[in-house]
Parts: sequence; structure tokens; C-alpha cells
Amino acid sequence: MYAINHAATALLIKKNAPKLPLFPLLVSVQLVEVFWVFFNYVGWEHFSISGGKVHLDFLPYSHSIFSGIAAAVLSFCVINWGYKNRQLAIAFAIGVVSHVMIDVIFHEKDIQLSPFFAKPVLGLGILDYPILNFIIEFAYGLFCWWYFKGNKALLWTIIIFNVLDLPIMLSHGDALTPFVNYPFLLPSVILFQILITWYFVFRYASSKNEKQQSVSEI
Ligand SMILES: [Zn+2]
Repeated sequence: MYAINHAATALLIKKNAPKLPLFPLLVSVQLVEVFWVFFNYVGWEHFSISGGKVHLDFLPYSHSIFSGIAAAVLSFCVINWGYKNRQLAIAFAIGVVSHVMIDVIFHEKDIQLSPFFAKPVLGLGILDYPILNFIIEFAYGLFCWWYFKGNKALLWTIIIFNVLDLPIMLSHGDALTPFVNYPFLLPSVILFQILITWYFVFRYASSKNEKQQSVSEI
């Protein structure tokens, strides 16, 4: 799943726990992806390009079921006992696990149960069908917006970022050559997407809340 729709998951969590700050929730749903970017930079994980397509190949440390759950438990412990905020600890842990669960639906078969065993690998492979992928992700993003009862700016953020993802979803063959020649490029593009979607979702989801707050204060 692409960055904007992972970020949209934070809206579902926020709606169920309105008192929690949004930014840590946005971090939680992308924590696993931030690890992936870092592990690709340092060479612990890697992707490949073959048959005109990107394959994520090796991502057992950031994206296995075990590491997703481990990261969630660890986050829970740090926030619950370190920051004494049980509600945020639970919400953050749900956000972390949501990432791997959603990726299992979209990825090719590349998500291991744990970093220790190469098989079995999970993934329904929706990414292999770009148009279907686009429709499902877009519908999910819109659903999150609707569930959250977001404002128009947030809706446009979700629409625009989904549409911008379409050329990336459809890219194949020669269009992928730069990623072959410069392996740091793909993690950098993903990191940029994570950061920019954090910014816009945070900005427009929060502005709605401020408005609501000021109305309720009156
Ligand atoms: Zn991911």
C-alpha cells in the first residue's frame, strides 16, 4: 500500500481515540516503512527489478509478521511505561501492526512470518494488478476520510496523492531503469512520500479538529 493510504489508517485510529495526538498515530502506521527505508539505505534489506517490475524481495526485518508484532509490543512498552500513556500505547501498537497486515493484502508473496524462516511467505499480490490496486487503495483512502469526517482539504489531499501514485503503480520496463542504476532512489522516493503525506494529512486533519474544538468551546 502507498504512503497516503497507510497515513489514512491513522485517521481511523484517531476517530476511535479523538483525544490522542494525531502525529504519533501517523508515525505508528508508517514505522515499519521507515525501518524499511533505513534498512535499504544500510543494505540489510533490498529490492530488485526484473521482468519490468519492482520486487521487494528481501524485507524480513521490517516487514515480517513477527517483527511487526515485536515492534508493536516494544512501542507499547515504551509508551505505556516510559510515557505513562496506556491509551496512546495501545493505539500506537495497533497502528504498527496495521501496516504489516495491510501490506500482506497488497504485496507480492514477500512477507515472511519471521526473519528467521524464509518460508512461508505471505502476500495476496494486489500490487501486480495496478488498476485494481489503484481502485482498492483509493476507495480505502476515501473510506478513511469519510469515517474520520474530514474536511475538504483532507479529501483533496487523499485524492491528489492517490492520483499521483497511479503513474508509479503503472510504471514498468524502461521507466524503472533509474531505480536499477541508483538503488538509493526508491527508498528515497518512499521516504519523501511518507514525509509529505504525514505533513498534509496532519495539517488538514488537525485543522478540522481545531475548528471543531473552537465550536465546542463556544
Ligand atoms: Zn510497507
